This record gives sequence, C-alpha cells and structure tokens, in this order.
Amino acid sequence: MAAQLPTLFLSHGSPMHALQPGAVRGVWENLGRTLPRPKALLISSAHWETGSPELTAAEKPETIHDFYGFPKPLYEIQYPAKGSPALAFRSVDLLKQAGLTAKEDPVRGLDHGAWSPLLYMYPEADVPVVQVSVQTGLGPRHHLDVGRALAPLAKEGVLILGSGHMTHNLRERRDGAPAPYARDFQDWVKQRIDRHALVELADYRKRTPNGVRAHPTDEHFLPLFVALGAAGESYTASRIYDGIEMGALAMDAYLFN
Ligand code: ZN
Repeated sequence: MAAQLPTLFLSHGSPMHALQPGAVRGVWENLGRTLPRPKALLISSAHWETGSPELTAAEKPETIHDFYGFPKPLYEIQYPAKGSPALAFRSVDLLKQAGLTAKEDPVRGLDHGAWSPLLYMYPEADVPVVQVSVQTGLGPRHHLDVGRALAPLAKEGVLILGSGHMTHNLRERRDGAPAPYARDFQDWVKQRIDRHALVELADYRKRTPNGVRAHPTDEHFLPLFVALGAAGESYTASRIYDGIEMGALAMDAYLFN
C-alpha cells in the first residue's frame, strides 16, 4: 500500500519560466527532492480547457509548445515522460463514479502548465504524467468535485497537482513593486485556505473586489480547487512560495497535507 501523498498547487509562470524560472526554481527543485517519490503525476493544467473533464491517455504524450512568439530554445524543450493510460482510465472511472462526465483523450500531449514546473521537479522525466483538463465554464465548485472524485489516487501513490496561477491579469504586467491588489488577493485566499472556507473561496469573484481583477477569466485559478478537493476535508495547508513577478503575477505555491 502506497503512502498517502500530499496534493500541490503551483503557479507555473509564463512560458519563459521553463528556461528561466528565477526565484521559484529552488521551490520546484526542492519539491521533487523532498516529497515521497510518486508512482505517477496527475496534473490539472489551466492550459487545457474542455467542456467536461478529459484525461491524457497516450503512452508517450508529446511535449506541446502551446504559445507563440517566444525564443526558439523554448520550442526545442522536450519533456519525454511516459504517460499512464492505466491512470487515465482509473481517473475517468473515479470521475464517472462521482456522477461526472469524463473521457480519455488518446492523442493529447503535455502543455507548458505541466512541463514547465516538471522540468525542475522531476528533471529526469522518469515519473509518468497524466493531465486532466479544466472546465472554465463550470467554475470552482465543479473543480472541487473533480478533486474530491480523484482523491483516492493520492492514497495509491499518485501526486495530484493543480498548475495555474494565484493572480493572472496579464494586462497588468509592469516593472516595479507588486500591485497592492495582488498582495491583498494572495492574503485573502490564504486566509480562506487556512480556515477551510472553501465555499467562500469558490465564490471569490463575488466575495472580493480583487477577484475579477486578479482573474479576468478564471481558468488559471481553477486548478487550485482540484488540488484542494483532492486534499480531503482535514488538510493542513503550507504556502511554500509567495513571490510576485512582473508587478502583478503572484506565483504562490501550496502544499496540502
Ligand atoms: Zn499559464
């Protein structure tokens, strides 16, 4: 029987973080070194949006370069981890048991929401990876349900990660000190995570004026709810990083034990 694994939320940064991760590099490297070694990774990435949950089921998922106008070396990066069709099928089964619609995608590869942090967490690409899509139209509560449905996998040696962003208003990128609203939103979220106020957190767009500003669209926030749902009712949260880049992009990382 595998040990119960924690779940994780990571802010993956811009595609350039794959080449130049900066200050978050040590956080990602340290996670790979210190967490119990998982049998497989199941990643909810903001960069795969579908109408209902889909799971990558390729034996060898390709590295997708899902961005435009970046330097050539970024397009040369390969993350050759194996897939795990068995984990994809098991995940679909768990989602269906929870009353959700879900299916495998036999072709889809890994996007930079997955492989950017993994380049540093598991640089040998020797842990199989499955991705699960987000449903932007269905909101945070649905993603808590997705996480809860997948929670049994954390007891089976699977590391469940949400890869998105704590704040993601790309129009507010700038030089200089962090925007106060971004700090305020980080704090607001942390307080709710710490006191398990997930219903309030799920209503973030109504509950704090900074919610819509931090996330003009919410696809980058939704993976947090998958990680929280998968962590179970009695999680202990540790915020392991809270840097803000380009003035308004909060890079928070959370470990849920
Ligand atoms: Zn992104």
